[in-house]
Order: sequence, then structure tokens, then C-alpha cells
Amino acid sequence: MDFLSKKARAIAPYTAGEQPRDRKYIKLNTNENPYPPSRAAAEALRVFHEDDLRRYPSPDADGLREAIARAHGVKPENVFCGNGSDEVLALSFPAFFDGDGAGACFADITYSFYEVFARFFGIPQVIVPLRADFTLDLSAMRAARCRGYYIANPNAPTGVGIGRAQMEQFIASVPDRLVILDEAYMDFFGESCVPLTARYENVLVVRTFSKSYALAGIRCGYAVGNAALIAGLRCMKDCFNSYPVDAVAQAVCCAAVADKPYYDGVIARVVAERERLRAALCSRGFTVPESRANFLFAGRAKVSARAIYEGLKEAGVLVRHWNRPVICDFVRITVGTREQDEALLAALDRILADHSA
Ligand SMILES: *Cc1c(COP(=O)(O)O)cnc(C)c1O
Repeated sequence: MDFLSKKARAIAPYTAGEQPRDRKYIKLNTNENPYPPSRAAAEALRVFHEDDLRRYPSPDADGLREAIARAHGVKPENVFCGNGSDEVLALSFPAFFDGDGAGACFADITYSFYEVFARFFGIPQVIVPLRADFTLDLSAMRAARCRGYYIANPNAPTGVGIGRAQMEQFIASVPDRLVILDEAYMDFFGESCVPLTARYENVLVVRTFSKSYALAGIRCGYAVGNAALIAGLRCMKDCFNSYPVDAVAQAVCCAAVADKPYYDGVIARVVAERERLRAALCSRGFTVPESRANFLFAGRAKVSARAIYEGLKEAGVLVRHWNRPVICDFVRITVGTREQDEALLAALDRILADHSA
């Protein structure tokens, strides 16, 4: 007997970057932060009282929503929290799109979870190819027939970013369509559209604690938008899971958002190291689009990206490679500490020397 549904048998799920346990790797494959979370967040974890595990947490993460609202200068009613921004994005599909309506529009090369969610929820997809230089074709997206958009800004896995002014122009030009901005990497760019959520009812910004906050293990993400959009997300959440953000995550993330000075320092270090690593890759003959995120997308003529991925893995350095048209000639490299990146470059030099021998 096959007890699985047709959906479970047919759907191809998202594949997350590998988290191997077989040996100790320099992990530059899932865009984790190489620096630790803030001391305030660690302290919140240390003083967390076990009696708070006995009871259910606040279903809507009220304290955390207040802390996030304060940090962004919005109201708690403008914030929705979920179990990672992946969950927030997942809930947004049934909240804002219908199976029999105009679809969700996104780029061919972007966060591949959008496509999985659209298929899972039966939402039509309108795919717009990136331009040859990996920039988003906003005029083609504007011309597409759709109900709304998913735009990762900066984009994954290319790292290419769109400034706030250009994004505002786009948002203003499609007032009857919802623009969902996935700002997972925005802290490394500093052009967030969160301030636009007060002025445009058609913007929802989704963010995460996993990258700039160095809290990927805690699983927490959030959305900022007008109260009607937030109510739509809450309605979907309450159909799946009343308590997606656990008590520990609420306490730790509250402390983290309040520690802006620490995170400003971490972000500045990652950005400086990103520029240093990009220059080092370019000087080795790699093509690397300018990145606004905490990773670089690098390809090199004459050496296949697959061979680079495999050679690095053998050398104990993990990066990410996709066997997909357009992007199969590139690897995505998370910016690590200076020491980690030096080890990566040394391993790359050995691989390149082997290939030219
Ligand atoms: C990492 C990432 C996310 C997911 O973040 P979580 O909060 O860890 O679920 C969402 N969008 C993009 C583009 C990402 O790279």
C-alpha cells in the first residue's frame, strides 16, 4: 500500500545546503554568519527559566513583535513572526494568492523556495528571466500579468541588490499588486524598504534572524507590512500552528534586536571582508557580480564550477553549487572570517594550479 497523497508523491521539495557531520568543514555554503550572536542574546539564553518551558509561549510572539516594531519604528500590529522567514514566506502564498487567480511573479534565478511554495499551494507562477548581467528585469516584471511579486533583495544566489529609490519606483508603479520583498540579506546592503511599508499598502517586507543576526539555529523570521496584510498572515498561521515561535526563540531574538551596536560591528566586518574576498577572487580570474549580501557568486572560465565545488569539498571547504542552466557555471561562497577565506583561497589556488598543469 502506498499511503502517500498524490501531492506527497509528486512534489520535488526544496533542497537546503548540506550540513554534513562526517568531518569538520569550513562551512561557506549556507550563508551563516561567521561571528557569534550578541552577548545579550547569549545572556537571554543563559537566564532563560525552565518554568517558562512548561507553559505555551505567546501565540503571536507579542514581546518580540514589540521589540522588532521598536527597532524599525513601526507598530506591533505591523509585525508578524514565524518559525524562520521560510515559514513566513510559505504562509504568504495562501494568504495573498489563489489557485485560480493571476499568479505569483518572480525571477528565474532567485530563492528557489518560492517555486516550491507556489507548487505546494497550487499557485500559478509567472517566471521572468534575469538580464544577462544578473540584474532583475523590473520592466518585464511590471509588464507581466500577475497578482503579486516575490523579490529577494539582495537576490540569492547572485548577491545583486536594488536600491531603495528604484524599488520604490517599482512599488509605486504597481499599486494594485502586492510586492513581497525578501530582505534576508538586507542588513549587508542597508537599503531596506521597511520604511516604505507605512506609505504603500502593497509592500510586505520579510526578514530573518538567520543571517545578519547569527541566529540560524533559533529559527525565527518576521514580516513588516500594513495591519491588513499582517492579519492575513496571522489567519494562515492559526490554521497551521498557533505557536510557531517558541519561548526560547522569543527571548533570544528580543535581546538580539535590541543590541544594534554589536550587530552594526558584525555587519561592517562581513561587508569589509566581502570586498576583500571579491577582489581576491577577481584577481584569480573569477567573474564575480558585485554583491550586496554576505556571499559571492563566482564563476571562472576553463574550470567547471562543479570541479571547483568538488575540489574545495575534498580540501574541507564547503561552498554551494547548483546543476541548473544559467547558474551551473558559478559557485556561491559565503563570506567567512578572514582566516576561513584565506583557507578557501589557498585551496582554490591548488585547484587552479592542478587544472592548468
Ligand atoms: C536564508 C534565506 C531565507 C530563509 O531564512 P530562514 O529565516 O532561516 O528560514 C529566506 N530567503 C532567502 C533569500 C534566504 O537566503
